[in-house]
Amino acid sequence: KKVLIVGGVAGGASAAARLRRLDEEAHIVMFERDPYISFANCGLPYYIGGSIQDRSKLLVQTPEAMHKRFNIDVRIQSEVVSIDPVNKKVRVESIEKGSYEESYDALILSPGAKPIRPNLPGIESSKIHMLRNIPDTDKIKTKVAAEGTRSAVVIGGGFIGVEMAENLREAGLEVSLIEAGPQILAPFDTEMSSILAKELDEHGVNLIFSDMVQGFAEVGEQIEVQLASGTVLQSDMVLLAIGVSPDTSFLKDSGLEFGPRGHILVNERMETNLDQVYAVGDAVEVVDFVNGTKTAIPLAGPANKQGRIAADNISGLGTTYKGSQGTSIIKVFGVTGASTGNNEKTLQRLGLPYHVIYVHPSSHATYYPGATPISMKLIFDPKGTVLGAQAVGYSGVDKRIDDIATVIRFRGTVTDLTELELSYAPPYSSAKDPVNMAGFAAE
Ligand code: FAD
Repeated sequence: KKVLIVGGVAGGASAAARLRRLDEEAHIVMFERDPYISFANCGLPYYIGGSIQDRSKLLVQTPEAMHKRFNIDVRIQSEVVSIDPVNKKVRVESIEKGSYEESYDALILSPGAKPIRPNLPGIESSKIHMLRNIPDTDKIKTKVAAEGTRSAVVIGGGFIGVEMAENLREAGLEVSLIEAGPQILAPFDTEMSSILAKELDEHGVNLIFSDMVQGFAEVGEQIEVQLASGTVLQSDMVLLAIGVSPDTSFLKDSGLEFGPRGHILVNERMETNLDQVYAVGDAVEVVDFVNGTKTAIPLAGPANKQGRIAADNISGLGTTYKGSQGTSIIKVFGVTGASTGNNEKTLQRLGLPYHVIYVHPSSHATYYPGATPISMKLIFDPKGTVLGAQAVGYSGVDKRIDDIATVIRFRGTVTDLTELELSYAPPYSSAKDPVNMAGFAAE
């Protein structure tokens, strides 16, 4: 069996490794447009900021290692420019081999999502950067390290924008962050996100809310960012991070079905509408695990899981992807924010009934040194089924949200939260863990 994979990072590399484990004989070819495969996208901001010092640590797998370990035929700098589902072939443009066709028995598409580049005056400036891959990272790192780079404007208060604001600050720059909406980090509701915004502010990030970028202009060695309010910011570089869109333009004449925002439509086996064509990762539409509506959640965990499921189905295992709940976490200087499931904004938009409680427990027993408060918000439906949770604090935020994420996966209730028996000794928690406390408050 010959399986072609488009995209060699999260979804693509997971699919390749899983396929090999399931089928020793398959001929697996993985195409990647860029010079690198299987790199740590999520680590890129921390390399720019300096917490990750060794660039080679970002390269999780090399084509050679992937070939040696899994016998995968990895072809880098090879872009799949079109697919022909009738004759089961793809066309490849390779820097080394030129243009050629390759046939398949099964095809997995994991092309990911690309940063949105708005059509604004001055957008062509080389002082405007976007962050998706290693070549972008190298450019930004060089600019940050250059003599004379003192300031940056980050546009967009999503995960990448906020992580970059922190890391550019860590790298010693003056940083402004512009967010078009009234809050940063959309997975959180406003009151939770404002705790994270305060942390940015206290670390010297100049936050500008509810203002839109209208254009850019190069002024000498600097770049000017013009806002709708009339404010003009001048800085040495701009990091544009206003969201991503599926990287699927090469598929437009393929007969594939797409969702309203250009995501590839798949069923729960990750099959598209085309015979033996699977799609996974940031490029696909998924089901919201909590409310059952269609959504798109560009996160690494879902992409990896979906890659594995596509491989399972090609090998006849029949596993299914049951939806994404958007569990996510972010470090903002000394504070951690994490969330899972639906927030109030989503439930209101869908007109679904819910209740909310807040608790402010300590991360561990207060008589043991170092306990810090956690602000937790729990959202549940009138029958008590947990719909979502958000937490912000200094430590122990991750495990509390992960506990609740697990309960949501099993369609658990606030009573289940009270009944969870969680690990406890004074340095780690309290006999009534914060997750139990949230359940008690909700019952
Ligand atoms: P990608 O990993 O983007 O891989 C797609 C690959 O396909 C790309 O390398 C692309 O070059 C290649 N490609 C596209 N089209 C073609 C073509 N036609 N031919 C050949 N190759 C092609 N997620 C988290 O959960 N937590 C985090 O902390 C986190 N941090 C992030 C930080 C940054 C800076 C970025 C950019 C992303 C981060 N993400 C994070 C998101 C996460 O990286 C993605 O959700 C995940 O990588 C998606 O996997 P994918 O396989 O769909 O796409």
